[in-house]
This record gives sequence, structure tokens and C-alpha cells, in this order.
Amino acid sequence: MRRTWTLLAAQTSIAAASLLAQTTSAWFGVAPPPPANDPTRPVMKYDGGYAPLAAQFAHRSGRFDELLDGAAVKADHRAIVGFSLESLAAGDKVWGRRAATPSFMHTLEWAVSRFKAAGLKDAVVEPFAVTAPMWVPQSWRVQVVGDPALGAGTTTVTLASAFPQSGGATIPGGRVMAPVVFVGRGTDADLAGRDVSGKIAVVHVRPEPSLFGSAEQGVAQKLAAKGAIGVVNAVEGPGNAFYFDPRFACGKSPCFMIGGQDGWFLEQVIGKAAAAGVLDRLKISLELASEERSGLTSANAVATIPGASPKRIIVNAHADGYFQGGDDNASGLAVLVGLARYFAKQPQPKHTLIFVASGGHHGPGNGPAALVASHPELKDSTLLVINLEHVAYLDVVRGKTRATNNTGMVWETSVTESAKAVGVTNESPFLFDVWSRAPRCFGVATYQQPGTGVPGDLGGYRALNAPMTQMIQSGTFYHSSGDVVEQVPAEGLERAARFHAYLIEQVDQAAEALITSGKSMPYVSRLGDCGAMMPAVRSSQP
Ligand SMILES: [Zn+2]
Ligand SMILES: [Zn+2]
Repeated sequence: MRRTWTLLAAQTSIAAASLLAQTTSAWFGVAPPPPANDPTRPVMKYDGGYAPLAAQFAHRSGRFDELLDGAAVKADHRAIVGFSLESLAAGDKVWGRRAATPSFMHTLEWAVSRFKAAGLKDAVVEPFAVTAPMWVPQSWRVQVVGDPALGAGTTTVTLASAFPQSGGATIPGGRVMAPVVFVGRGTDADLAGRDVSGKIAVVHVRPEPSLFGSAEQGVAQKLAAKGAIGVVNAVEGPGNAFYFDPRFACGKSPCFMIGGQDGWFLEQVIGKAAAAGVLDRLKISLELASEERSGLTSANAVATIPGASPKRIIVNAHADGYFQGGDDNASGLAVLVGLARYFAKQPQPKHTLIFVASGGHHGPGNGPAALVASHPELKDSTLLVINLEHVAYLDVVRGKTRATNNTGMVWETSVTESAKAVGVTNESPFLFDVWSRAPRCFGVATYQQPGTGVPGDLGGYRALNAPMTQMIQSGTFYHSSGDVVEQVPAEGLERAARFHAYLIEQVDQAAEALITSGKSMPYVSRLGDCGAMMPAVRSSQP
């Protein structure tokens, strides 16, 4: 009896499929996705007629303020992104300034040459051995497999934005094909009653506000543990960009991220196939070949401006990044180089300024940890560590017009930089007071509430047990091919550079206890008002 029912159900399904094949067009009428965005071009429009908010600062005579002009810092920013494009041209699959790769080392050599040209004579690349291996994909392809049950004339579609995630092993035989299971955002509620075993799971990922904050981090790993043989993370994002982020990997299993337009197509055909009763005919094919490289060398670039006291202020920016890495972190590195140039022209500082271009969270190794290990003198002499990371990202926001595909409102580029989280690890009232001048006097967009968290590159410096501070954000294009050179306006770089010059000057001149004592320190503000910092108005536009 049971067998008869199964047979009947199967016959009905075949009948429904053949009916559909006659009455629907390919892929149920869903248009195939466009190619992936050209990663050398921006995903968004940056020439819409409204320029980024002007940077309005006066040059103080004899102070070399012009070294912090937006045009000067932007020229370095372009040079840094150029090393990523060199990696792309060299055929690197995970391209950019990935730590321990030639393009990264060239970035550090460039930073040293810029430090030396500024007069920092001791500038040097300090190599260190990397113990962890580096995962390197060689080839891959993700396809939605054509089947007449999915509409007459349906042929296989390649998802061109598919990008493999770290750790995925070479697939035996080169290829695996399996039915699709859609798991929403992969919450326990989404997974209730769903069997992912032996299937390729599709997760809808919302970067809110970026992959750094996405609730879907770790879902791919969870799905692999539940028996999914592969995972496709479909990112709800502008265009059809590439994404690469270890938090969406799934161990040795083949696991990919796809851009917004590929994700839209895939989710549409999943829905329509399910409605037509032929979801079991919808299959995805995954191809992946990869290797692991070990015995690698990474490095930091280090330069100093010697001070009069035995104390040190470390100014750090990571030089590594994925894809163009315009904001992450060509922005911070360009400001670092600009600040070195500026302080080389100032009177000798009280404390030694150490400029570090580090590397190692986009790729193997940890630059700051290696620096701390090889410089024991830093342990008891570091007054403060300042980190420059993601300092001038032009905000990409949801606009006011509903997207035609109804994934929500269309994305728009703002004329302001994204707001950044300010962190001071020891809650020094003095440092918080200095940071309050960032928005008020320098036009730097921050959150209204500072905190103690310092995510990003500072982790390796914790062993110094010194206070640490930074501002940081991560936007829509964080760790994607949309983080392009155009995403970082000269004006934003100038705002960040000028504020950090002010921050370093204030820290250098302050009583040490104001920096080291933390929140218990009685404090009365003696900082000048904004007018003293910018007595006239001038735009940074070249
Ligand atoms: Zn990053
Ligand atoms: Zn970063």
C-alpha cells in the first residue's frame, strides 16, 4: 500500500514537472544573474553630483599642516591600493595585500621608503616566521544545474560572484552535486524541521551593518556539522560583489559566498521550484581545488621619531587587506604615513613615536604580536598604543526608494563617512575628552557614546599591558570587492589625519598619569576650543 502511494506521488510529481516544462519559461521566468562586478571598478556611483562634505582646515604658518591635506594623503592611499591591483594582475586568487604574499611585502617596502623619505632614518622591514599555513584556492565554480523540470529551456547557470571561503579542501573528483535546502538566516527557528544532511545549504546573510556584525557568522560551520555537504552564503548586498571572510567558512567542506544579484536569482528559483513542487529537482554543483602553503614569512614595517623621554607612543596601522582594501586598511596606512611625514617636521616630541605598518589578520601570522615578542623594550616603556583602522569609509546606506527586486530599499552612497566606534581601553577621562574633539572640531563621524572595546588589529598589543585607543567601523563592503579606492574620500582621510595629529600632540604633551591612570583619575579639561585649531576655513579639494 505504502509503495503504491509513493509511486502515485512520484507520478504526480513527474506530471507536474512536465506540465511546468510546457507552460513556463527557463528558470520560471527569473532572469539569470549578471556577471560579477569588475573588482577594479566601484560597485556604487561616486560621481552623483554631490561631493563628500568638505574638510575645512587652515594651514598654520610654519607648522607644515599641508602635509596632512586630503590630496597628499589620498595620493598615498592610491599607491597602497595599487599593490592590491598588482596582486590581481599577478593572478592571485585571493588577491589584495594578503599578509605573507609578495604584494603585502611590497606594501611594507613602500611604507619604509616613504618613512625614509620623510626623514625617519631607522625605517626597516622586520620579517617574522609564520607558523600557521595559508589556505590558497586554485580554482572553483558554483553552478545551479539546469533541468527541464525547472522550466522549458532551462540551462545551467554559473554564479559568477561565488568566492570560496577559507579551509575548503579540494573536492574528490573535482565536483560535487546535491539538492538545495534553503535555511533562511540559519537560526535555530529557521532550522527547525529542516534536514540539511547530504544537501547544499543556502543561507541568507545580511551585513548589518557589515559582515563583522552579521548574525549569520558561524552558521555555515553549524550547517556542515549537521551534515550539509556544502554551504552557499548569499549576501544581501549591492551589485554582485565578491566576499571573503573566515566567519562564513565551514572547515574542510566546500563553502562559498555569493553577491547580491546571484543570491537574488538563487533564492527566487528556490521559491518558485518549491511552489511548483519540483524543489527536489533543483541542484547545485560545487567545484573546488585548493592547497595549503606553509613555511611562510610575514613582516612589519617599523620607523621611529626619537623623543626626549624613555617612554614610547606606538602608532599602528595594518597594511594587509583583501581585494582593493580601500578602507580596510589602505585608509589607516595612508594616514599613518602622513602622520610620520608631519611629525618628522615638528619639534622633537617628548616621547618616542613608533610608527608600525603591521600585518597578519588578512593572512597568516600576527604582526603586532610578533613585534611585541621581538621588542621586549616595549613592555615597560609604552605609554599608549594608537590604532588607525578603517578611518574614512564613505557610508553606504539603505535609501528611500524600494528596490525593484524588493530585497528592501536600494543602497545609496552618503556624502559623509560612516560613524566610527571610539574605544579607550582604560577609560582615561583625558583621552575621552581629546576624542570628543574628533566630531566637534575635526568633523570626524563617530558614535555619540565611546567605549572600551578595541576590535581589530590591537589584540597583539595586549601583552604590553598599556592603554590602547582607536576609532573603527566596518561597512557594507567590509571584506568585499566593493571596498574600492573610490570608497575613501580625500576629505575623510584629511579629517582622520588632522584629528590624529592633534591626538598624538595632546598625548605627547600631557602628564603621563592622565593617560595611564584610567577612569579613577580626577580630571578637569584644559583643552582649547575648536577655533584655536582651525582659525579659518579652507577646502581640501585639490
Ligand atoms: Zn579586515
Ligand atoms: Zn582592518
